[in-house]
Amino acid sequence: MNRLRRQAIACSLLMAAVMGGQSIGFAQTTIDGFAPKPSDNQRRLEEQFRAVPSAANAREELRRLTAEAHLAGSPEDYATAIYVRDQMRSFGLTADMREYQVLLPYPRTPSIVELIAPRHERLQVREDVVPEDPSSSSKKIVPLFNGYGASGDITAPLVYVNYGLPNDYEDLRKAGVEVKGKIAIARYGNSFRGVKAKVAEDNGAIGLIIYSDPADDGFTQGEVYPKGPWRPESSAQRGSVQFLFIYPGDPLTPGLPAIPGTPRLKKEQALNLPHIPVQPISYGDAQHLLKPLRGPVRPKGFQGGLPFTYHAGGTNDVRVHLKTDIEFATKTIWDVITRVDGAVAKDRWVVLGNHRDAWVFGAVDPNSGTTAMLELGRGLGQLMKSGWKPGRSIILGSWDAEEQGLIGSTEWAEENAAELKEKAVAYLNMDVAVSGPNFGASSVPSMWKLIHSAAQEVKDPKTAKSIYEAWRDRARADAADLELYDANGNERPAAAPRIGALGSGSDYTPFLQHLGVPSLDMGFNGDYGVYHSAYDSFYWMAHFGDPTFQYHVAAAQIWGTIALRLADAAGLPFDYTDYASQLREFVNETKRLAVRHKLADSFDAKSLLNAVDNFADEAAKVDKRRHSEVLDVEKSSGGDAIARLRRLNDALMQAERALIDDRGLHGRTWFKHQIYAPGFYTGYAALPLPDLRQAIEDGRAADASEAAGRITEAIKRATEVLKQGRG
Ligand SMILES: [Zn+2]
Repeated sequence: MNRLRRQAIACSLLMAAVMGGQSIGFAQTTIDGFAPKPSDNQRRLEEQFRAVPSAANAREELRRLTAEAHLAGSPEDYATAIYVRDQMRSFGLTADMREYQVLLPYPRTPSIVELIAPRHERLQVREDVVPEDPSSSSKKIVPLFNGYGASGDITAPLVYVNYGLPNDYEDLRKAGVEVKGKIAIARYGNSFRGVKAKVAEDNGAIGLIIYSDPADDGFTQGEVYPKGPWRPESSAQRGSVQFLFIYPGDPLTPGLPAIPGTPRLKKEQALNLPHIPVQPISYGDAQHLLKPLRGPVRPKGFQGGLPFTYHAGGTNDVRVHLKTDIEFATKTIWDVITRVDGAVAKDRWVVLGNHRDAWVFGAVDPNSGTTAMLELGRGLGQLMKSGWKPGRSIILGSWDAEEQGLIGSTEWAEENAAELKEKAVAYLNMDVAVSGPNFGASSVPSMWKLIHSAAQEVKDPKTAKSIYEAWRDRARADAADLELYDANGNERPAAAPRIGALGSGSDYTPFLQHLGVPSLDMGFNGDYGVYHSAYDSFYWMAHFGDPTFQYHVAAAQIWGTIALRLADAAGLPFDYTDYASQLREFVNETKRLAVRHKLADSFDAKSLLNAVDNFADEAAKVDKRRHSEVLDVEKSSGGDAIARLRRLNDALMQAERALIDDRGLHGRTWFKHQIYAPGFYTGYAALPLPDLRQAIEDGRAADASEAAGRITEAIKRATEVLKQGRG
């Protein structure tokens, strides 16, 4: 998943103001969380680590991982699990398989999409063989389908619903277009496709076709594959339409691991599955459906990139036959768990994760990340051979069945929930490690400085600057003048590059949003138009994404640098003053939203802001204490200083957990984090303060009041946890 991480690079003025203070010194300063001498040792250790990953090894690993299509639950998927396990073992690490039995969808036969009126025409619904790309002719490429869409055989008038989001249906209603009983056709983009399926069925559509518009990732963007990196005419985007914004994971075991002995729902009882057939098609096919549409000329914003005027349709002029034939099978999936035990605190875990399964070959998504994880494992193995052990334990999870609904990570997190709540320091996700040269990250605010500092240590292969500088310069180049200069025309100090909020679409979701583990997600992005197609292949990567494989190396280096700091720091480098600033910003944004919805009085913003102020005060105290105790513990080798620091570290780790409310979010109790969740309608994108904002957007004043109360409580709990940590 995870394609919409092309996040807005430009900082808002407010963000620049919040983060302007985050300028960081360069390599000579002490690493945050370490006393001066251990910091020097750590720097040497990190350099030793970063010297290990190699482009030649990365290239070979990616070639092996992408040699066959490896859809979750298939024999080829199992072979990649064995490969990852055995590679990790060959580096001297302990690696084992963990299996789950989960409900997975497979197309029994290729879907049929045909035009019935104004003429009879069966569409191709298949990706062409590209002679230059040898894997594109494989017989094992799964037909185009949307995971968890229902089976169906329907014929009805076609209606074009733009992105298929609630406001699009509102526009259609205003234009007098009826959707009920018809087949909807939506374009990809602006939200997770599962949201489009939910909104289509809520509006009475009996089927949904989703196509890749060339304006999104096709010829409007640039040359198409194999001449360029963008989506060619016959290519379509596979992908899950599970309602993962309600709950992700195995549909039949919400909140519990899918292992023998766990009670299972019947498929009809699962609340995260669509009820209508859903089918992806290419723009080559879509133009045959869209061009003959009549009815009102497209409402504002409905025009896409095909060379004709888009109409809404919904009349008998265009009728379509859609047939999908999906088998739902209980299948075994395979996570590979690699463990490096901590020498000082074995019971504190730094967890890293990447999924391994792909819709087809998955060179970018996800096996660039798998390759980075293998090179990271190779680096850890080398350090251990020289006698090093991490202070805290490091766990590497190679997840399965992410594509269908974050399943391997969710089942593992649910199985180990109690231990993770007690022991997990952080979760570091890398799904797509490389689709190009542009670094980007999302995380909880307490890890912003940690990400910025690690990015300073790694060299950007293209510019020979640090990743941090390349990242900051790019943000600056994309920023508006207003952000670069103040009212007097003076240049503002260079702002730290912006780190986004975590929504969903990859495996950090169970860790952060179900359990409250501080999390991040990162990778290098670029021009990438073959997402979830048969052309996300080794050939594509070797010609467009990362021909030298140097960015795979850089991905392993930055991921490992962050992991080593979290594993070895005497005082965990989490900064809750940044969290407090971000919370204040979220509350103020929400106040403005409430004013727009005439619900300004619906919740107690003052109490909420008071709680944020107290949290900020406590965060500043804790940060000061952390710095002094890191120095103390180096000076005195006494047990007291160690015990004090351990208590403080536990508080820094547990403060995030305190933002969990076990009652869960409104109508989707699996999601328990009060600050971060995917929006119900935004899908991939985060909706900060989710219950409060959704209640305001829906005009539910009483719910807004209750949600604000719960958020206030959560922030107070986190403040108390930090306070306890100071003893
Ligand atoms: Zn992915």
